[in-house]
This record gives sequence, C-alpha cells and structure tokens, in this order.
Amino acid sequence: MYDFLIVGAGLYGATMAFEAKKRGFKCLVIERRAHTGGNIYCKKINGINVHYYGAHIFHTKNKKIWEFINQFTEFNNYINSPLALYKGKMYNLPFNMNTFYQLWNTVTPEEAKTIIDKQKNKYCFTEPQNLEEQALMMVGEDVYFKLIKGYTEKQWGQPATLIPAFVIKRLPVRFTFNNNYFDDPYQGIPIGGYNTIIDQLLNGTEVKVNTDYFTNRNELKNKAKKIIYTGEIDRFYDYQFGKLKYRSLKFEHEELKGIKNFQGNAVVNYTDKDVPYTRILEHKHFEFGNQPNTVITKEYPIDFTEETEPYYPVNDDFNNNLFEQYKHLANQNPNIHFGGRLGEYKYYNMDQVISRAFNDSTLLFN
Ligand code: FAD
Repeated sequence: MYDFLIVGAGLYGATMAFEAKKRGFKCLVIERRAHTGGNIYCKKINGINVHYYGAHIFHTKNKKIWEFINQFTEFNNYINSPLALYKGKMYNLPFNMNTFYQLWNTVTPEEAKTIIDKQKNKYCFTEPQNLEEQALMMVGEDVYFKLIKGYTEKQWGQPATLIPAFVIKRLPVRFTFNNNYFDDPYQGIPIGGYNTIIDQLLNGTEVKVNTDYFTNRNELKNKAKKIIYTGEIDRFYDYQFGKLKYRSLKFEHEELKGIKNFQGNAVVNYTDKDVPYTRILEHKHFEFGNQPNTVITKEYPIDFTEETEPYYPVNDDFNNNLFEQYKHLANQNPNIHFGGRLGEYKYYNMDQVISRAFNDSTLLFN
C-alpha cells in the first residue's frame, strides 16, 4: 500500500514525489511513456542533449525556485535570443530595436516609434474582434505581416481572423537593443540536460514507466490512499461533459553528420506561412556544444487526436468553462488531486509548475 499514486512522471509529478518523500510519504509513480520527465525529457544523441519535446529554457523571477532547481544540477548562462526567418531575411526577436533596424533601418527609438505609430493609427478598432485586429493595433502592419501572421496561423491551424484576440493581448515590444526573450532575472539550461533533475527528484521513489493509468486502472485501484493525477482531466472523467481542446506538435529530429553548425542559433522561427514548420531547433547551441555533428528538430504544429500528445491547452472561454465543470467534479472527491499542465488545463512554464507543486504539497502532505 502506498500513500499516493502519482500518475505522470513529468516535472509536476516528480516534484510532488520529491516533496512527499521529504515528508516521509511513500509514493508509486506511473508513467505511460517509456521514460520519465514528461515534456522536459532530453535524449542524448552523439553527445548532444536533444530537447525531445521542444526547446525548454528555464527562466524565473522567483529566487526560491531558482535555488530549488539549482540544487540538482548546475545551469549555464544561456540567454534565449531566438531569430525569425521570413522570405530569406533574418530578424531578431522579441521585437526590439534590432528588429526595427532590420525592418526599416531606424536607428533611434524615436524613429522606430514614429513608424510603428503611423502604421498602428491606420487600425483603430474600438473593440478588436480577433487576433489580426488586435496585433495590427499593437504593432502595425510590417511586424504583423512579416513576423506574426504566418507563424501564428501555423501554430493554431486557423486564419488569424478566426483566432480570439486574447491570444495576443501581450506582445513584448522593446525600444532597446536587447534580444533577451525573457524579462526574468534567472535563466539558463541545465548543463547535461533536464534528465538529471528528474532523476534526482524521483530518487528513492518507485517508478514504473510504460504504464498507462487507464489500461491498469483496476490493478491500481487499491494500491494507494490518494491519487495525484497529472494527465488530461477530461479523459479521466471519460469526457462526460465533452472533450477539451488541445493543440499538438510533431517533432522531426535529424542528426546532420559532418555538419558542425547548421544555423548558428538554438532557435530559429519560420514566420512564412508557406514553410510548414514553425521552428528549427539546433540543440548543441543550448549548451554551447562543440561536437563534430549537429542535431536539429523541425517543429510542426498539428491537430490533437488520440494518436498525438496534448501539448497546449486551448484556453478560450468555451474550453475554460468546460474545464471548470470537470474541476467542480474533481473537487467533490478528496481522494484525487489534479495538478500540472494537463491536470489544471493551463499553459504553465516550468517554474510555475514547480510553484504549483510547492503550494499543492503544503495542502496535501501536511
Ligand atoms: P508533462 O510534462 O506533460 O507531464 C505529464 C506526464 O503525465 C507525461 O509524461 C504524460 O506521459 C504522463 N501521463 C499523462 N496521462 C497519463 C496516464 N493516463 N498514465 C500514465 N501517465 C500519464 N516551460 C518553460 O519554462 N520554458 C520553456 O522554454 C518551455 N518550452 C516549452 C515548449 C513546448 C513545445 C512545450 C509543450 C512546453 C514548454 N514549456 C516550457 C512548458 C513545460 O514543458 C511544462 O511546464 C512542464 O513540462 C509541465 O510539466 P507537467 O508535469 O505538468 O506535464
């Protein structure tokens, strides 16, 4: 008999297991994939740590979380500075003075602001009805048509005029020459990849991979007093109120033998609608690698089906209301707790997942 059955060995499940063990509880962690780590899992290919489910950059404003994660491994000083490629020309991201120079040859913030204001003022919608209207009002047409429209339409699989405006309520626009994507004071990549962190979080806890909760439900029923469930909440309840919407991704990994440096940067976004993928990652650059070969990953946004992974919750009003119905049901059963990105149906970054695990462990384990 275990105190807790934790379904899912991602960052949330592993942090909960760690916090439970610290307080003397016995947990069993089950994971449907063949490995632990969930989406932060790294696969080592010829000495290169490949972020197998997309680029993962750890960043946080919270010193306590930074210190927590640093106890497991050393972080390097990687700063996320992605680039955008549009019709053969490179632009810096997030939109900043370097991007404006590349677009218009503007040198001062005043010059750049004048152009953006002139373009924005053409679009004075009192109440923007969709993402396109919202973005045009915020950044004007050049930034929107070259750097936002194609990328976003690929990401969501819909024309921007059908995507709700809230998706792009905040767009980082900077009038300084600063390519650092994040504003957080703490940022980096764990040297040697994320697996070391997960292994240490799970050290001393029994873990079974290749074990799906649903195919083993009967056998697992009486194994623990309580369940901590980090998978999709709608599936857990047999979709009784309807299916929640997710967006998925297809990752195409490729080792390029004899090529030392493919694109000169870890992340390049392809903002042209005609290119089917949204990003190419070159993993060695996350750790300033010097290997003779390189590994790249093309990222294709795809629909979520039974065969694909639910990477992004679609947090529009309809789906958030549906989630609330499931949450209401979950609240009636004190022996089950839903957590993590899928359990809470929220797009959490890694630091937010850890923060939620800290809060939840105080409630559940004290
Ligand atoms: P998951 O990692 O999804 O773990 C849940 C686990 O539960 C999975 O391993 C799943 O297989 C398992 N599971 C589900 N159902 C069952 C079942 N029925 N039985 C058994 N096991 C089950 N965050 C950042 O801070 N920085 C970034 O740069 C960043 N980039 C990202 C890029 C992409 C493409 C994505 C998708 C996410 C990114 N994130 C990033 C977010 C980060 O991945 C999450 O915050 C974190 O991984 C969430 O951890 P989790 O444990 O909640 O979920």
